[in-house]
Amino acid sequence: MFIDVKVDARTAGQPELVEKLVEVCPVGIFAQAEGGALKIVEENLDECVLCDLCIEAAPKGGVKVVKLYE
Ligand code: SF4
Repeated sequence: MFIDVKVDARTAGQPELVEKLVEVCPVGIFAQAEGGALKIVEENLDECVLCDLCIEAAPKGGVKVVKLYE
């Protein structure tokens, strides 16, 4: 399965939210760049287990996990 993770600019720009995302994702899809902004670790995207922890950690609609195809 291939997935994409979309994070809106408001969420991605808040260092404390980004920290939370880095913490909750069990497969390391989120990382924090210097300065605190969000970085998506592209090479880990296919490890996503659809646990929804990132969606729960972000404000409503802040993070979307999109299934591209199965
Ligand atoms: S659904 Fe789970 S595994 Fe997938 S990106 Fe979110 S926290 Fe990571």
